[in-house]
Amino acid sequence: MEKFYITTPIFYVNDKPHLGHAYTMLLADCIARFKRMRGADVFFLTGTDEHGEKIETAATAKGLNPKEFVDSISIQFKNAWEKLNISNDYFIRTTDKNHEDTVKKTLIKLYNKGDIYKGTYEGWYCVSCEAYYDDNEIKAGKCPMCGKNVVRKKEESYFFKMSKYEKQLREWLSEDHLIPEYRKNEMINFFKDGLKDLSITRNNIKWGIKAPFDETHTVYVWFDALLNYLSAIGYPDENFGHYWPADVQIMGKDIARFHAIYWPTFLFALDLKTPEKMITTNWWISGKEKMSKSIGNIVDPLNFADTYGLDQLRYYLLKEMTYGGDANFNEKDFIQTINNDLAEELGNLLNRTMVMNEKYFNSEIPKPEKQDLKETADKTVKNFLDLMEAYQIDRALKEIWVLVRECNRYVNEKKPWGNEEERGTIVYNLIEGLRIISVLLEPFMPVKAVEIRSQLGVKNHSFEWSGSTKGKNGARTLLFPKIDA
Ligand SMILES: [Zn+2]
Repeated sequence: MEKFYITTPIFYVNDKPHLGHAYTMLLADCIARFKRMRGADVFFLTGTDEHGEKIETAATAKGLNPKEFVDSISIQFKNAWEKLNISNDYFIRTTDKNHEDTVKKTLIKLYNKGDIYKGTYEGWYCVSCEAYYDDNEIKAGKCPMCGKNVVRKKEESYFFKMSKYEKQLREWLSEDHLIPEYRKNEMINFFKDGLKDLSITRNNIKWGIKAPFDETHTVYVWFDALLNYLSAIGYPDENFGHYWPADVQIMGKDIARFHAIYWPTFLFALDLKTPEKMITTNWWISGKEKMSKSIGNIVDPLNFADTYGLDQLRYYLLKEMTYGGDANFNEKDFIQTINNDLAEELGNLLNRTMVMNEKYFNSEIPKPEKQDLKETADKTVKNFLDLMEAYQIDRALKEIWVLVRECNRYVNEKKPWGNEEERGTIVYNLIEGLRIISVLLEPFMPVKAVEIRSQLGVKNHSFEWSGSTKGKNGARTLLFPKIDA
């Protein structure tokens, strides 16, 4: 059985789950569900990132100790993913003991190998990003990543010899691992003046994992966090290795460089394989700006799922975000998409097909003379599978609508109500077309997909067109109620 290891970033617990987090989870969930349908042994990982200065500060502000604080936020992420019907296999926390053990054992390995040394770090520090920048990196005295103020810091630190792996990193980046591909040059540009060694400990931060070779130092949060992808599957124990390397790692574009630059070099140093693919997602914009807590334009995905339906939300988000650029979340547009794509085009197709079958064939699926829609269905399935295998998720979803629209065109053209001769064939083709549509939709709308087949009274969930589907339609209910705009 083919194994398939997919990860989301572990989310930083200084904030509650927002639309950006939810989209990343839905994208990973859609891919994981698709791979399971294809028979793969899937391990889908997510979790929370819980150490660092920002967390310590946020906890103090709330009068809590850091552990109490991270417990209270981490559970919100876990609950949110349950509510969004996310099918992750494991939820890791960087405060888990097995993770802390992995970080320490990994550091000892690298230390013994001679890849870690003690030095002094001087640079511009951004508290928000928990990252250091050089003079030439900061922009008008501000952080180049988040635009906030930076402070000059000089401290004793242990360094990882990242520079040693520059050649390997360049090679890796030149291969086709990044999706979208244009991210590649962006990454190479980050170290156009050469890859520097990386400061991996801090001696002024308490909330974190202690460096095993010097307990006065705390491990840098990114070094700690990235290792979750290994600790979750048992590194460095003997049972580790079944799922590694990761097949797909998903992350927002703002943290692409930690994943596409630091992470592979850690893996080179550990003599481990590197991930097959990394997908970097763009941002959700609301109004004209990136959603952020400070601007106050955050969209709470759970509210929208409650108001308009979970699978409706899943459909809209997975359709709207492309690899081409940032996506705009707009409630009006969301409602219009539900009414048009889901209620009109798909829901109405199911409803009218079942009404006709009830009227003319007592809801028994009729026998066809011809397979009129087979050709379109076969083509849609083939294109869909190719796009899904290439992780072109929004395009795969849009491809399903080629078949939806062809079904609608077919019924309007054939007019089965006045076409007694072909009536059985037409209704059969619509039912089989809808069955295929439901199978293709399953990774996107898992509940509605099953509901379509249950209304049709068919169980077969193969991607292949069948010329002999039998059964009796079940109860007819409105699949996607229209929303008053
Ligand atoms: Zn910053």
